[in-house]
This record gives sequence, structure tokens and C-alpha cells, in this order.
Amino acid sequence: SPRDALLQTDASAALFDRARAVTPGGVNSPVRAFNAVGGTPRFIRSAQGAWLRDVDGNEYVDLICSWGPMLLGHAHPEVLEAVQAAVARGTSYGTPTEPEVELAEEIVSRTSVEKVRFVSSGTEATMSAIRLARGFTGRDVVVKFAGCYHGHVDALLASAGSGLATFAVPGTPGVPASSTELTLVLPYNDRAAVEAVFAEHGDRIACLVTEAAPGNMGVVPPEPGFNEFLAATCTRHGALFVSDEVMTGFRASRQGQWGLDGALEGWRPDLVTFGKVMGGGFPAAAFGGRADVMGHLSPEGPVYQAGTLSGNPIATTAGLTTLRLATPEVYDHLTRAGETIKAAAAEALTAAGVAHTIQSTGTMFSVFFAEGAVRDFDDASRTDTAAYGAFFHAMLERGVYLPPSAYEAWFLSAAHDERAVQTVLDALPEAARAAAAT
Ligand code: PMP
Repeated sequence: SPRDALLQTDASAALFDRARAVTPGGVNSPVRAFNAVGGTPRFIRSAQGAWLRDVDGNEYVDLICSWGPMLLGHAHPEVLEAVQAAVARGTSYGTPTEPEVELAEEIVSRTSVEKVRFVSSGTEATMSAIRLARGFTGRDVVVKFAGCYHGHVDALLASAGSGLATFAVPGTPGVPASSTELTLVLPYNDRAAVEAVFAEHGDRIACLVTEAAPGNMGVVPPEPGFNEFLAATCTRHGALFVSDEVMTGFRASRQGQWGLDGALEGWRPDLVTFGKVMGGGFPAAAFGGRADVMGHLSPEGPVYQAGTLSGNPIATTAGLTTLRLATPEVYDHLTRAGETIKAAAAEALTAAGVAHTIQSTGTMFSVFFAEGAVRDFDDASRTDTAAYGAFFHAMLERGVYLPPSAYEAWFLSAAHDERAVQTVLDALPEAARAAAAT
């Protein structure tokens, strides 16, 4: 396509053709397919530090970082060494192992949770947390926010039917209405909506689940005190507060989003979900929380949950090594690199006359192609996706791989050094002009 004009992408295009013949849309997770921005997705052969190299030999500064996990950058030597040593001892035993205990201890020491259970994806983590909340409370209703993504859990693939206090309709075919009719969807950052729904349905609500800071409609920080308010409201009504830190955990700060609010304000969620960074680039995720709630989980309690590869020794070794290397200096580096890129993006977009808003929570940020503060999904929906598509492709042609969607955070790593950041800065002005021309 003309969009791919500047770079040679024949090898990616050929693989994409083969992929489409054997896999729906040619990809194993939808947004990788560039459907939102057009063009050919790049097939990556290898990655090192901040850089991706595709099958045509093109190199890109990676601002996706595997959608969050690669906090230390790709192929970090110490992570590779630990993983290679673990692989040499065998890859899965179906028994308890030491790395699981060590990773659980590391997570407990850094976050609000007292006990954790490992799973293999963020989806499994939120699905299991909700089952546990329902089992613990003996209630059925789940409250979520529009624009928050918690994985492809049936009950959570729901959007608001017709506004406040309306039980949700499924957001996709294949999810029966019976799976979402117990899900209530509210606008984010809206205290009055939360109060109203708890006033009406409080005694039926098992849990409220929210992204600790939404990153799946772009970064929409909770307004000051919002998470504390959610926690208090849940407690008052005997519901559990489930904080989804799959994206923010060990990323927004060393202690995730909770390190930016709960730890300072002195409150804890009842349950928390983790994924991404804690798996160090392997399929590992977790849910955890209050010891008495987690005690309801099988085999200690009656709520069933299990997994053949849960706590896999390779994955937990990669996660443990990653977390141990995720020192305060790593987060300071992400902050500094992020500030540099945000300032340059704002300058380039302003100079080109492109409406934009940049929002952050801790080290996480995103650039909205929309005017004015974005505090909920309605605001995020004003994004100019055509402008973003042009911007995305102009960046890609200049060697910067942004998320192929206008509603994502731009992820950095400890390996985004001066050369990588400069590559991004050099690409921005021309990309901003491309966005302006749409
Ligand atoms: N929760 C949040 C906040 C997420 O960002 C994601 C994934 N982007 C998930 C849950 C689902 O995780 P997974 O893709 O590992 O199933």
C-alpha cells in the first residue's frame, strides 16, 4: 500500500499473506493487525534493548514494549541468563517450585496484597478475581467502567446499554446476555454515578472492578481521591474493590498505581490483578489481595481455580529477575525519558496545529489526538483516529513503532537511551505535519 512506501516491507507482507491463510486476520491478538491504522503489520524477528528488527531488516524504536511487559527492554542479559538457566532445569513440572514462592514474596513485599495466586494471562487474573469476589460475598453483580479493559472475560466484555444503572449488553457476539446482565457499566471518574448505583443495587454487588488507572482508553488518570472513594464505597456496601493493575503494576511506579495513591493515602484494594511486567515477557499473571479473601480459594477454600502452567518456572523466573532489576533508578529513567518525549510531542503537535492532549499517571502516558482533558470514555471517543493513523505511519517510516491504535499508552523501557529517544524526537515534527494534513 502507498502507506508503506518509504520502507521495504516485502517480507512482512509475504508473511502476513501466509498468516491470513491460517489465522483469522493473520494475527493472534487483534490490534497487532493494523486494522485501526491501515497498512501491513511488521513481523518482528528479533529485539534488543529499545529496538525491534523486522523480517525485512528495518529497525524501530519500540514504543509498545510488548504492550507493557518489557520494562527493562528486550533481551536484557540478566533476564536471559536466568531464563536460560531455568530452561536447562526443565520447563514445567506440575509441582510447586521455588521461583513461585520467591516471585510471590516479591509481589507481596512491593504491593498491597497479602497473598497471590499465579495464572497465565491478565484475562485469567480478572476472571478469577471476579469469581472469588462472587464466591466470597455470595453476591452476583459486578460494576465496571466504560473504557476499562480487563481482558476478554465474558462478563467484562460489556459496554453501557443506555447509561447509568443499566445492566450491560454484550460488547461482542458470542457473549450471552446472561453473562453481562449482571454487569453494571458506569462512566469513569464519576462519583455520583457510583453512588447512585450502589444506592440502588448495593446489596447485590459482589465487586467493583476498575483499572487502577485506565490505560486502555489511553491514559486517563483517576481524579485525586477517586480510587480511595471507590474503596470506601465498596467497603460501606460489603462489596470488594478489585483494582486491575495488569498494565499499571510495576510500571506506573515501582508499586504500580497503588504506589501513587493507596500507599500514600493509607488504603488497600481487597483484590488486585497483575500481569505484563511481572511475567518479564512470558505468559504469567496473578491475582491477590486480603488473606481472608484469598483464603476462600481452592484448595484452602471452596472457590475453584486452577491452571496446568500456572506459576510456570520459566515465566516466574523471568518475572522475578525483572522485578528484582526494576530498581527506583529504572523508574527515574522512565520518568525522564517520558518527560522528554511528551514535551517534544506537545511541541511538534502544537507547531503543526494538531489538537492533542497528553495525560500521565506515574511513568505511564499517552498522547490523545483530541482537545481538552480526557476524564472518561466519552471524552476519549473524541479522538481524531484518522490524524493518529497518519501520525502513526509517519513515525513508523522514520523508525518508531508506536501502538497501532489511538487509545493506548506509549510504553518506554530502561533501555530507551539517548539514541532511541533522539530517534523519536527526530521523527515527531514530520509526523505531526502528516497528522495535520489529514
Ligand atoms: N487488564 C488490563 C488492565 C489490561 O491492560 C489487559 C491487557 N492489555 C488485561 C487485563 C488482559 O491481560 P491479557 O492480555 O494478558 O489477558
